[in-house]
Amino acid sequence: MDNKQMLMIPGPTPVPEKVLLAMAKHPIGHRSGDFSKIIAELTANLKWLHQTQNDVLMLTTSGTGAMEAGIINFLSPGDRVLVGNNGKFGDRWVKVAKTFGLAVEEVKAEWGKPLDPNAFKTLLEANTAKTIKALIITHSETSTGVLNDLAAINTAAKAHSGALMIVDAVTSLGATPVAIDELGLDVVASGSQKGYMIPPGLGFVSVSRKAWQAYETATIPRFYLDLKKYKKSTDEDSSPFTPPINLMYGLQASLQMMKAEGLEAIFARHQRHTNATRAAMKALNLPLFAPDNAASNAITAVAPLGVEAEKIRSTMRKKFDIAMAGGQDHLKGKIFRIGHLGFVCDRDILSCIGALEATLIELGYEGVNPGAGVAAAAGVLAQG
Ligand SMILES: *Cc1c(COP(=O)(O)O)cnc(C)c1O
Repeated sequence: MDNKQMLMIPGPTPVPEKVLLAMAKHPIGHRSGDFSKIIAELTANLKWLHQTQNDVLMLTTSGTGAMEAGIINFLSPGDRVLVGNNGKFGDRWVKVAKTFGLAVEEVKAEWGKPLDPNAFKTLLEANTAKTIKALIITHSETSTGVLNDLAAINTAAKAHSGALMIVDAVTSLGATPVAIDELGLDVVASGSQKGYMIPPGLGFVSVSRKAWQAYETATIPRFYLDLKKYKKSTDEDSSPFTPPINLMYGLQASLQMMKAEGLEAIFARHQRHTNATRAAMKALNLPLFAPDNAASNAITAVAPLGVEAEKIRSTMRKKFDIAMAGGQDHLKGKIFRIGHLGFVCDRDILSCIGALEATLIELGYEGVNPGAGVAAAAGVLAQG
């Protein structure tokens, strides 16, 4: 049906009407006093969302631009780094790091399994000369629905070395606690089209004092993504280049909505939706791709047997106007992924699961017990 699409993908995520209307305003000058006030409000609210006193900088990029900024500002060619790689986005970190000449050592896990914190610990302990400059980790691995154990990996890093912790929190910020100050995470990258409830186009990077010290000696060339420029401007409630003014109107509205809901309530909602979705998949005999003890709060990946993942996706899209994500790289056709990130309510989860049941019935999937998925999800949601 025209104009009725429901996004259940892990970005772009649904956008509240309040945000869309805020973005429809005429732009104002980005050097005006009125816009400075908006930047000041955004900066304060971003620190709230990031649970940090560190700088949180806004870049006109997608999430990958924020990741790239997180590498090039704090490291130098030849620097030895440990990169966690258990999916598409871990792999992206490897590619970015190699592009800029870093000496990358990958810590791998099979796609669908979490990274092993002990693997980092072993490598760090063996590195008595302390030449490892950074650990680079994807927190919520969107390609598989796996949540890596950031706290445990961080403990290994902190116990042994002065290495920077550089984190992709693109699908964990705003869904899962990312305790930047408590854990001492040095660089945390994210993007607007995920947990922020606004369209794509803004990247965010938080930077610790320790990372700024590393900045002083880092030699990778940079210009547009030179974060010192952004820090200097942000400290003056300004921006170094023309920012996406209308997107920032949207961000102003979405952060106000998030503050009104409260951080704990937001995390609890994402947890509830994850639990409901996973319970429904189990009740429908659809195998979950990520284990219960390492499940992302933003995305549930499902590896159906006896029914094609891509057929499920196309039926969901054509008959029910619900967009789900497919598998990436070697998982193409093997899994489908349900995004429940950002502006998602209980009704969205029930609609998606109800439509999925109808799709499975239509495709003749033998494992389906009609109503079981909705009942399981409703049971979880009823617990509040
Ligand atoms: C979406 C996403 C990114 C950023 O991708 P862009 O397309 O550049 O916004 C990075 N990491 C993860 C884990 C993501 O889900």
